[in-house]
Formats: sequence, structure tokens, C-alpha cells
Amino acid sequence: MSPAGSSDISERLAELEQLGLGRRLRMISGPQGPRVLLDGRPVLLMCSNNYLGLADHPRVREAAAEAAMRWGVGAGASRLVSGTMTIHRRLEDRLAAFKGSEGAILFGSGYLANLGVIGALAGRDGVVFSDELNHASIVDGCRLSRARIAIYRHRDVEHLDWCLRRHGDRASERLIVTDSVFSMDGDVAPLGDIVELAEMHGARVVVDEAHAIGNLGPGGRGAVADAGLEGEIDVVVGTLGKALGSYGAYACASAEMVRYLINAARSLIFSTAPGPPAIAGALAALEILEERPHRVARLRSNARALRGALSAEGFPIAETDMHIVPLVVGDERDAMSLCQRAIERGVFAQAIRPPTVPAGTSRLRLTTMASHTRGELAKAAKVFGSAARELSLDLSAMGPAVAEPPRLRELELAEASSEAYVERVELPASPIGDRPFDAERELRAVEGPGEETMPFDAEREPVAATARDEDGVASDRGERPSGSAPFDFERDARAA
Ligand code: PMP
Repeated sequence: MSPAGSSDISERLAELEQLGLGRRLRMISGPQGPRVLLDGRPVLLMCSNNYLGLADHPRVREAAAEAAMRWGVGAGASRLVSGTMTIHRRLEDRLAAFKGSEGAILFGSGYLANLGVIGALAGRDGVVFSDELNHASIVDGCRLSRARIAIYRHRDVEHLDWCLRRHGDRASERLIVTDSVFSMDGDVAPLGDIVELAEMHGARVVVDEAHAIGNLGPGGRGAVADAGLEGEIDVVVGTLGKALGSYGAYACASAEMVRYLINAARSLIFSTAPGPPAIAGALAALEILEERPHRVARLRSNARALRGALSAEGFPIAETDMHIVPLVVGDERDAMSLCQRAIERGVFAQAIRPPTVPAGTSRLRLTTMASHTRGELAKAAKVFGSAARELSLDLSAMGPAVAEPPRLRELELAEASSEAYVERVELPASPIGDRPFDAERELRAVEGPGEETMPFDAEREPVAATARDEDGVASDRGERPSGSAPFDFERDARAA
């Protein structure tokens, strides 16, 4: 790197640190279970997206290990060159059946899926209508598409209607894109109203189910299924990296749309396919989800239990069964202090600050997992309550940052009140910001304690996991598959 380049980078880093917006990576030792070592300190993990506890499930691990032995670790090329393997096709078929679509196509990650799908469906002449709280991968997908972008107010279908009337005519491509469950608030998009508007205005709809698969709908099939809209959304995107415990992503759509995405989604065409172990792990996770949907029920009852315990502490938390629970502190430094105080007391939930969330809504984003025990959730609520009180924070003000969903009333209403709407075509700046860089702490985290020094907790060890959950969530280990057989051409051909 040139000297000029490096000094520029140092300045930028110094500026971030000065603003208190430097990010650092916290080191987790052990699998993403309810208890981990965080920078060497044992904590209860309250911010992982391993919602169903499948990332460390023995059957999922074994499937990934077996796939590595059978097919190797890497896919070797893009899906369109030599990267489509039998295991990809198997998972695609299974996902399409699970999500009730004609077809499915895998991507490297949810981020790449949103980039590819939005770019394929909205070009220079198009307009994308995007909820203001959509995930950053959607925001970046909109930017890369080079389409015009109309940001509508969060879940506000009247505003969406107004934007649709105002931007573009039927001749131009119009695309509505939304998270189904919003990642930082845990609220749900008004999907029925959105589909209705899309039909009226001749727009396509893309829904990102990253936080809904495994959590909502019959058998954990997602918010689209929950709303009875299977087959009515043009493309449903989802990730394999959260409830399905692995890495990678998918887009479910009609067979024709899948064929189109294969031809037009640049993040699919120009990126190496996800490796066999990740795909086989996700396939095993999906099988477990289908065989044992009680995990979804457990996740939801855990969410209700955590919410109830937080509410008993004095937080104004609605007692629903949504697994993402924001404690909206407001001020960014207060959120960081609350995060730090809770870590000192053995509970970890990362503080989330602008621009990941809007200014003035910094929060701890708590998540429940099916593998948490009720005792752990009760402890977490107590820790957050006492930590907030110690810091003299107003617990009663830490309610949801977003209002109840507005309903689509008369569609004409939006036009009548259009003066009230402020058009926004600017997207939020790309996320920076977390706590300042701390060299000593970082060094400690890198130098150790390593995996081998982690005191393995027998109760957490998968083989013994059966003992810990009254309702059997951790007990469905299944039989060990046939082992790590090396590549067998005949077997592989049969599998296809
Ligand atoms: N969409 C949403 C709503 C998300 O929350 C995330 C991840 N946080 C993604 C997409 C990206 O998925 P992945 O992690 O697989 O890239």
C-alpha cells in the first residue's frame, strides 16, 4: 500500500475512534449455544440468531462433517461453471417444498441473495420501494441496482401506496421489497396489504424471511405462510445462517423466475457456490425442523417467557411470542454501558447503535433460542433489570421503537393526504459504529484463551444435552448417519 494510502486509513480509523464509533470483533469460544466464553469470560448468550439451537445440533454437525468427507469442503466454482453439486439441488428441492414454491436457488449468503435478486428485478429504469427499516443487504441491493429508490415509512402501507402512485407508471419496472420480520425490532411487515398494493399498481414483491423461517407460520415456514400468501410473492429470500444453523441463503420463486435469476443475479453468477458442508448442515437442520416442529413452539414459548420476565422487571415489553426483543435505551453511550454492565454480570447482548438503527433508538437486541432454559431467560431479565437500575436508566421508557402497524384503509386516503408525506430518496449511510477500538482487549482476545482452554460444560456437550430440557428440545439427536464415507460415485448418483 502506498504511504499516502496508509495515512489516509489511519486518519479514518482515528476519526472513528474519536467519534466513539470504532468497531471491534468480540471473540466467542465454543459453539453458538446458550453459554459461551466471550473474550474469555463465561456468559449467557442472548444475541445469537441460532434461534432453534441447530447450529450446534449433533445431527447437523454430523451431516456437515459427512458431506466434507464425501464431497469435499469447497464447491470449486460458481453455480454456473462447475459449482452446482447434487447436494445443492437436494437442498433446493427441499426448500421449495418447505416454502411452497415451484423452485428455489441457493446463494452464498443472505447478503448476496438480496444483492442478486434486487439487481435482477430492478434496473436503471426501475423504481424500488423499500421499507425504511429494511436490512442493510436490501439497502445495498437497492443501491447496486441503480434503480430509483423510494423509501416508505416503516410498515406504512398508506405511504407505500402514495409512493407507488407517485413513482413510475405501469411501463417501468416497480419492485416492493421488505423484511418480513424486521431484524432489529422483531415486528412483522403488513404482507397482505403489500401484496394487495402490488397487484393494484402492477409491482413485483420481494420478501426477506431471514428472521421468519423457523420462527413463524405453520411448522416454522415463515411469515409469508403465516399470512396465507404462499405462491403470491414473486421472490421469497431467506438465509441458512440463522434458524437453519448454517451458512448460505436461498431465493424461492416460480420455476420461470428461478431460471431468470440464474441468468441475471450477478451475485450468483460471479461468486463461488456455498460449500457442501454448509449445505448439508442446512439440509439436516431443515429435516429436523420438519420432523420436530416442537422446536418452533419452544422458541416461541421461550420468547414469551423472556418477555414476561422483562415486563416483571419493569420494562414495557409486550408479552407476545416474537423472538427478537429490543430494549430501546435511546442514547448510544447508555446502550453501550448497559451492554457492558450486563456482560460483567454474565449476560451478553450486543448494543446496536446508529446507523444500524435510527438515531436516538440505540438498543440491546435480545434474542431467544429454543435451547435456552427458562432459568437462563429469567436470569437474563433480572440482570438487564438490575444493570439498568444501577445505571439509573429509565426502564419504563425502554419500549419498542416502532408504533403498531398501520392498516391499509381506503387507498384513496393516501392520495388525499399526500401533502403530509415527505419523499425520501436518500438511503442511510453504510453502517459504521460500535465501541472504540481497545488494543489491549483485542490482543487478549486474539491471544487467548483459545478453544482448547474452554472449560467444556458437560451439560452443554451435545451427547449429554438430553438431560437439560424438560420438554425434550435438546434431546432429538437422531441416529448417527452412516459415517464419513469417502466419495462414492454410485451413491452420489443415487442421491441426485
Ligand atoms: N436479511 C436480513 C433481514 C438479515 O437480518 C440478514 C443478516 N443479519 C441478512 C439478510 C443477511 O443474511 P446472511 O447473514 O446470510 O448474509
